Formats: sequence, structure tokens, C-alpha cells
Amino acid sequence: MTAAARDRVRPRADVALMAGYHSPQVDVDVRLNTNESPVPPPDGFLDAVAAAVGQVPWHRYPDRGATALRARIAALHDVDPAQVFVANGSNEVLQTLTLAYGGPGRAVAVFEPTYALHSHIARTTGTDVAEGERGEGFALDLAEVRRVVDEAAPAITYLCSPNNPTGVVEPPAVVEEVRDLVPGLLVVDEAYAQFAPWSALSLVDDDAPLVVTRTFSKTWSMAAARLGYLVGPTWVVEELEKVVLPYHLDALKQAAGVAALDFVGAMEERVSHLVEERGRLETALRDLPCEVWPSSANFILFRPTGSDGGRVWQDLLDRSVLVRDCSSWPRLEGCLRVTVGTRDEDDRFLTALREVLA
Ligand code: PMP
Repeated sequence: MTAAARDRVRPRADVALMAGYHSPQVDVDVRLNTNESPVPPPDGFLDAVAAAVGQVPWHRYPDRGATALRARIAALHDVDPAQVFVANGSNEVLQTLTLAYGGPGRAVAVFEPTYALHSHIARTTGTDVAEGERGEGFALDLAEVRRVVDEAAPAITYLCSPNNPTGVVEPPAVVEEVRDLVPGLLVVDEAYAQFAPWSALSLVDDDAPLVVTRTFSKTWSMAAARLGYLVGPTWVVEELEKVVLPYHLDALKQAAGVAALDFVGAMEERVSHLVEERGRLETALRDLPCEVWPSSANFILFRPTGSDGGRVWQDLLDRSVLVRDCSSWPRLEGCLRVTVGTRDEDDRFLTALREVLA
């Protein structure tokens, strides 16, 4: 391609200035940087998927309404299938929400530090981002929520519970209060809710402007498949169906999602194991020169004290241990985030960190 062609074909000015989403994918022994499940799906799952895929009529478009999958998710959460929207990962759910409710002249509200994709997706869709700050211990500050909401009148307000990367879960009363004070839709991103003590799913109602998003990427051990969903009012799902691409969810993924839902017991067992392991990892981190934040998710945010966070990240990588480097993110100076892995992976991480901090 010549430079002249590149000069003629310009992206949107705001896109040209964007940095994109960066989470390094490097080949290491211990990968604890993207909050995936440390173990593959349970025994029997792959056979069930293979059998289901064998039945797929490959020459036909998939079921556009993903009827079977939505019915199973609805049954899992005791809601109506018309209250369920499914997509390629919860990120696509968030993007579809923003396409329907955001856009030029509208704003989303986020409370930093939080999941970077909430504001990134807003920007890619030409939606303004109104930023508020979390308070002490990264708890949501309702006065700050009121300030942002009064100033920006956001079409979408995001909560992330448990919050990535801090691990903080929002109390029910706070979510209800935010729901009642926002002028538009409240999106509660619950990518990690299975690790937390409560879920805002209990607040979903056709009369409430609140949706909950979930993913198969974490507890379901299915990050490779890209499957996520939303539970919310029927009238929200109807709008999302208008803007998403036709047949967006392929038949293989629909079959894999249905198969996964036969393994709820195995998934819950893994969650309780990871919660136990999280406790062990947190205790071990507290014995090191680190500030550690309590987590209700499958990761822990910590700040090595007296050492440069970025340097510690590199030193861990040099020992083939990859964690998330948050050290240059606003309000997270010097912080790293580690995913709870298998006992063996966590031990290798702790050994490497002890060496690095010695
Ligand atoms: N929300 C949060 C808070 C996340 O941390 C992630 C994954 N990093 C997602 C959504 C996206 O998950 P998915 O793989 O379903 O797109």
C-alpha cells in the first residue's frame, strides 16, 4: 500500500486518535492476566458439544433468535426468554447496548477505575464519556454519582460488580439507589458475579431501567468460544435485536452454550474452589510488602510497596509469570492485578513475587 492511498483513506478523526485495547498475549508458563478460568471445561462437555455440532445444518443460517439457548439461560435465572439477549462475549452485549442507547449527542457514565471497555466502546460508537471517580477503597460514592448524572444526563450508566480491576462488589442498596437516580439505563456488568455474595439479577424487572450482563468466559471455562448475555426488560432486548447484525450468533456457539448449561453443578464447584484459592492467595500477598485490596472476584488487585509496579511486572514476566500491569492506569499507580489460578500456578506466582520483592 502506498502512503498516498493511506492519506486519502482516513478513519474518523476520533478513531485515528484512539489507542485501541492492549492486553499482551505472550507465551508464558503461568498466565494470570486476563481472569480466565484456570481449567478447561468439565469432563463430558466437549463430547456434548461435538454431538450437538454434528446435528447442525451447516448449509443454513443459524436460529436468529437463539431460541434454545435463550430458553436455557432464562430457566437458569428464572426470567422470561424475551428478557435475555445473547451475543459474542459480553463485550458485544455492551457494544450492542451502546449502539442502541448511545451514539453521537449522548453520553455514558463510568466510575473510575473500572473496566476499560465501558468507555472504549462508548468512544468507538461516537458516544461521550462522563467520568466520575470512586471514593475510599474504590467504593462508589453516591454524591459523585449524583454530580456526574446531573452534569451529563447519561443515556447509559455503568456499574461493574464485582468491579474490574478492584474486585469491589456494589451493595444492593447502592445499586438500587443508582437505578433510581439515573435518567437512562443502568447497566450492571456482572462478568464476575458468581464469585460475589449477591447479584443484581434479583432487581431485573420489566418496570425497572436496569440490565445485568454476564459472560461464559470466566466461570464457564469458555473464553475461547466468545459467548455472553444480558438479562433485562423485554423492551430493551427488543431494541438490541434491531441493531445487532442478523445471525450474529453462530450455530456452533449456540450449541456450546446449551451444552454448558448441563454442567451448572460442575461450574459451581469450580467457583467455590476458586473462592477458597482466592483466600489463600490474598493471605499470602498480605505477608509480602504489598497493599492488597479484598476481592469478590477471581482476581486480586495489589500494589507492591517500595518497588516500582511496572518493574515488578517485568521481573515476573522474566520468570515466565504474566499478570496484568495496571501500574500506569489513573488512580492505580504502581498496581498489578493477578488472576486466581490453579494452586500450582498461584504457588509459582508467589514464589516469583517473593524473589522479585526480596
Ligand atoms: N466485563 C468485564 C468486567 C470484564 O472484565 C470482561 C473481560 N475482561 C468482560 C466484560 C468481557 O467478557 P467477554 O469475554 O464476555 O467479552
